[in-house]
Amino acid sequence: MSATTSIDTLTKETQEEKESLNLFYSTQTVIQKALAKLGYNNEMFELLKEPIRLLTVRIPVRMDDGSVKIFTGYRSQHNDSVGPTKGGVRFHPEVNEEEVKALSIWMSLKCGITNLPYGGGKGGIMCDPKQMSFRELERLSRGYVRAISQVVGPTKDIPAPDVYTNSQIMAWMMDEYSRLREFDSPGFITGKPLVLGGSQGRETATARGVTICIDEAVKKKGIELKGARVVIQGFGNAGSYLAKFLHDAGAKIVGVSDVYGGIHDPNGLDIDYLLDRRDSFGTFSKLFDNTISNQELLELDCDILVPAAISNQITAKNAHNIKASIVVEAANGPTTLEATHILTDRGILLVPDILASAGGVTVSYFEWVQNNQGYYWSEQEVEEKLCKVMVNSFDNIYQTAQSHKVDMRLAAYMVGIKKVAEASQFRGWV
Ligand code: GLU
Repeated sequence: MSATTSIDTLTKETQEEKESLNLFYSTQTVIQKALAKLGYNNEMFELLKEPIRLLTVRIPVRMDDGSVKIFTGYRSQHNDSVGPTKGGVRFHPEVNEEEVKALSIWMSLKCGITNLPYGGGKGGIMCDPKQMSFRELERLSRGYVRAISQVVGPTKDIPAPDVYTNSQIMAWMMDEYSRLREFDSPGFITGKPLVLGGSQGRETATARGVTICIDEAVKKKGIELKGARVVIQGFGNAGSYLAKFLHDAGAKIVGVSDVYGGIHDPNGLDIDYLLDRRDSFGTFSKLFDNTISNQELLELDCDILVPAAISNQITAKNAHNIKASIVVEAANGPTTLEATHILTDRGILLVPDILASAGGVTVSYFEWVQNNQGYYWSEQEVEEKLCKVMVNSFDNIYQTAQSHKVDMRLAAYMVGIKKVAEASQFRGWV
């Protein structure tokens, strides 16, 4: 190989990896492939490759020390041909326009996969909630709703929790919207506390959905869940409840981590002890001396690996070292496209994020239906309905992957985008 070739190859690989790490770019790439597989022309891709609406807002907040701080927030609506847009609001220092746009497209895909009557939406505020007081968070949440109130509403765009937002924040947002509209509007937002029209099972819905996907995946791989060794990266809402559910089902949780690092015990960790010690941001590993890094955690010997933290964790660099035979993405975007191909080629069953984490929005839909009808379901009813949706969605995507000979991510995109494309076509937009 000549010196020029090797430099060219290196540049190309670096470029590919760079593109693969960009969530928005990689989302568009897979959408284009999925639409082509489904036989749609380029006009459909032109419509669906970007959100139809993106609002940027600046939110002034009076801080506890008397100063005013201006926060930047977004609300992105990908496509509303199927119905109102739907999706969470995240509070995070790294929130940015591209990420919010990509995440709103993913919400369209999640709603398509689960057959919910929604298009995708997503919001975010660039802030560090860990550095803010309770009252500062309240003022920020209310300010955000005032800033976006023109484009959201129970039949327009319905927000929900996401990274570092919770039922208290949903309650403030619902209250602010109700005051602005001068009537009680529980259906404006989901993920509310039960007493304000929240749904049974919403808090645990994402983890339940992931558990159902794991149940289906182990069947396909011929593995017994009882005794299976599981590693979970991330101990927030999804990761911690998931650890509990899998532990209760007899699986052995051999590694977990939070933002500071992970802990590992090949004989199985004491999950109840860890749950007791986690704070509301899902952090605990500072308690332990013998911590391992998040990267080491991903490469631990195990049967099932669940990245439930942040994006771009499994990349071309470490995909060859993953030992699990099943990877279930509970976080949004934890595996790059290149890594997806590496894992698939290695025979690892990858359950993609837009399927695995769709339990949250599914129970959000149930919450919205209950708010609209003013009649509430039991936890058991919610769980049975969720189970039906998740099992059907998993089967549909698994069959699509088999029949089209594509990886599970592309299959999920095909199933997810089909409904949006069909609805846009029937409306005469394309
Ligand atoms: N934020 C969650 C997600 O990304 C839930 C969205 C919702 O409940 O609308 O799926």
